[in-house]
Formats: sequence, C-alpha cells, structure tokens
Amino acid sequence: MNTDDILNAIMAVDQALAAHEAEIESLDRAIGDGDHYINISRGSQVAVAMRGELAALSPDAALQKLAMKLLSTIGGASGPLVASFFMGMGKAIKEHNSSLADVAAAFAAGVEAIRARGKADLGEKTMLDVLIPVSRCFTELTAAGAEPRLIFKELKQVAEQGMLSTRDLVATKGRAAFLGDRAIGHIDAGAKSSQVMVSAVCDLAL
Ligand code: ADP
Ligand code: MG
Ligand code: MG
Repeated sequence: MNTDDILNAIMAVDQALAAHEAEIESLDRAIGDGDHYINISRGSQVAVAMRGELAALSPDAALQKLAMKLLSTIGGASGPLVASFFMGMGKAIKEHNSSLADVAAAFAAGVEAIRARGKADLGEKTMLDVLIPVSRCFTELTAAGAEPRLIFKELKQVAEQGMLSTRDLVATKGRAAFLGDRAIGHIDAGAKSSQVMVSAVCDLAL
C-alpha cells in the first residue's frame, strides 16, 4: 500500500457515500437524529479536498494528517471515532512498502482505536458490527496467504453480513440506546456507512 492507494480510496469512499445518501440518512432518522450522512460525507469531502497535500506524504503521515483534520470537521459521535480509526491505522502502518498483511494489521489497529475511544464492542448495534468482523477476516485471510481478489470479495460479504446483523440488535451505545426494543428492526446507520466504505475500497482491488 502506498499513498496513491489512500488517495484512490478517498475518492471511491466519497462517491460511494454520495450514492447511498438517502439510505444512510433515513437509517439515522429512524433510530438516531438523522445527521449521520451529513457528518460522514462532510468528512469524505474534506478528505477529497486534502488530496493534494496528502499526496506528498508517506502513508503513515497521510493517515495521521487526515485523522487530525477529520477530528475537527466530522461532528457527532462518529467524528472522534472515525478520527481514531485513521490515527490508529496511521500509527501502525509502515512508512513504505506495506504488504497486504501489514495493511490488515494496521486496519486492526484502527478498529481497536475505535473500540478504545467509544468503549463499545461487537453486538452493540454500531459501526463495530461491520468493522470488527471485517478486520478479523482480513487478518485471517492475509495470514493464510489467500489471493487478494478472494480476500476482497470475502471482506465485502462479511461487511454486508455485519451490517445486516445490526437489524435485530438492541443498541447499547449511541443515541439508539435510548430507544430500547424500538431500535429492533432497523439497521444501524454507522454500520451501513461502514459497509458502504469497506465495499467501495474492496471494489478498487477487484
Ligand atoms: P450522532 O449519534 O452524535 O448524531 P452520527 O449520527 O454521526 O452521530 O453517528 C452515529 C453512529 O455512530 C451510530 O450509527 C453508530 O454506528 C456509531 N456509534 C455511536 N456510538 C458509538 C460507540 N460508542 N462506538 C462505536 N460506534 C458508535
Ligand atoms: Mg446522528
Ligand atoms: Mg448528531
């Protein structure tokens, strides 16, 4: 992975989020306050605008610079969480020549940073219900030496399953936690946006 891959991922994520605006917005309107698309797309647009200055940096520096900027631009609960992801990943990624296994390890560090920041875990009806299974699968498949195409196809499916799994869960973190059983039957907005982003990045490699 190099900085060009990060820049391509930023473009792909921004476009994919825009293509799912209505869906992400309506999910947060159902069991949150309706602003998740606004928050997350503000972040992706700022990232797109930073592409020029990020291009000159090594991957670790680019991810950390992005994290700092996102912390001050994405609002809501998701802002500090998304920023923690990029800071965690930026600290873990090598300066040069990362293998896919290195990227999986850095992704895992990013997800761990979200967990530490939000004090949530699997099964709490959040973005982590997508990100934790995706990270585990990414680590396992790269360790097993699987073909990149197979890995990215599998990660897309795992992200989809994780996103769908939030439908039947009661939320124990975030705004939806106030709804108790009334959140059952609705997919979590952060799980949906995470699935859309994971899927868009995987498609770059397919
Ligand atoms: P807000 O809830 O402040 O309006 P957003 O709408 O941008 O913020 O983000 C809400 C999303 O953030 C939720 O759908 C959920 O996926 C995620 N989330 C909320 N709290 C946590 C947490 N503690 N850990 C992980 N993810 C969380
Ligand atoms: Mg919201
Ligand atoms: Mg809000």
